[in-house]
Amino acid sequence: MATLLVKNIHTLVTMDANRREITQGALYIRDHLIEQVGTTEELPQTADEILDLHNQYIVLPGLVNTHHHFYQTLTRVIPAAQNCTLFNWLKTLYPIWANLTADAVYLSTKMALAELILSGCTTASDHLYIYPNNCRLDDQIQAAQEMGVRFHPCRGSMSVGTSLGGLPPDSVVEKEADILKDSQRLIEQYHDRDRYSMLRLVLAPCSPFSVSPDLMKESAILARSYPKVGLHSHLAENQSDITYSLENFGMTPEDYAESVGWLGEDVWHAHCVQLSETAMQKFAQTGTGVTHCPCSNMRLASGIAPIRRMLDLGISVSIGVDGSASNDSGNLLQEVRMAFLLARVRECKVDAMTAREALEMATLGGARVLGRDDIGSLEKGMAADFIAINLDRPQLAGALHDPVAALVLCQVDRVDYSFIHGKKIVDQGQLTTVELETLVEKTNHLARKIVDAII
Ligand code: ZN
Repeated sequence: MATLLVKNIHTLVTMDANRREITQGALYIRDHLIEQVGTTEELPQTADEILDLHNQYIVLPGLVNTHHHFYQTLTRVIPAAQNCTLFNWLKTLYPIWANLTADAVYLSTKMALAELILSGCTTASDHLYIYPNNCRLDDQIQAAQEMGVRFHPCRGSMSVGTSLGGLPPDSVVEKEADILKDSQRLIEQYHDRDRYSMLRLVLAPCSPFSVSPDLMKESAILARSYPKVGLHSHLAENQSDITYSLENFGMTPEDYAESVGWLGEDVWHAHCVQLSETAMQKFAQTGTGVTHCPCSNMRLASGIAPIRRMLDLGISVSIGVDGSASNDSGNLLQEVRMAFLLARVRECKVDAMTAREALEMATLGGARVLGRDDIGSLEKGMAADFIAINLDRPQLAGALHDPVAALVLCQVDRVDYSFIHGKKIVDQGQLTTVELETLVEKTNHLARKIVDAII
């Protein structure tokens, strides 16, 4: 087995139980696991490979992104959808998304992951809920494996079209029996329950306004018949979302979620902007997780999620950039900064969020929400997923009194090194698993084709 020594780290952010930040730090890695953490002086001096960071880099656990729709990378900034709130934004984009192809799923996955990885992400979940033109989750899984990311793909779904009172056009929804059959096939083909798994499946009916209560129930039963298969959906995103639940189910979103078996430690919901105090208490009692998507919530004017209250209640909260059509970026470091700032805006209090709490949501919080105890911190026995950022950059000039907080307060948007499962995926700021220039060119070409087919 190969060993790697990362030494002379300016500040090593461990996120361990004592939240140690080690100056002159070092990591000793064997194969894909962390074997030792300490100062450069304490750790072994030799290894098969040595990365000397010359006391010029900060190292922290790889960030975890728990909500995204990679395919939307092809439909960013569509003029007709720039000034819409959630339901109209969706109704404008569904007909364009109906042009998605297998190639588009594959390529957009690579593009979105390139953006995420370069901005610090080492573990990602993606929610693919639209499958026109024979699109399959397999195409996304292949692309993610080629990129080298730790991946929790969601077999998303929509089954209630406009003719049944749902929001999406009938042309982009699937039959529920087909959804469940494909979900089972994917779990059996790809799901790895083991510690240090690189791929775990998630079942993810899209939202209360696009699937039936039956599909929610059946998906939960299916997921729970396998170990470590997660459950994910959108919930309480804005006021219209609440109104839809009240009018169609006679229940608040949290009561609806409870009635279909969608509260629990294996469940996490995106947004939860409009959760009531009672709902938050229920989430806390049941261990249900939340993905906070600050940019998307601002962009769609959905409101500001009560994250401070959620954290105080002990809810597991993580960060997600959400789909690239409602962000319209996929930069995770920037999303951490937004979460930090927006919490202060909501509460009008400076103690609503600290920089370190924001980083914690993106590391330990993400790991907890995905049900993982092998990522999110840099300690002996954890997966070797970490990022390194050069402190010698314009954004950090004059900010080195506290380099950890500076990562959040200053506008740092790119990492210099990223290791995932012990493998170097970003080397001196460059992705090692894809040629970025060609990828951008192909993405622009395909985006034009998909959008022009409809406009
Ligand atoms: Zn979403």
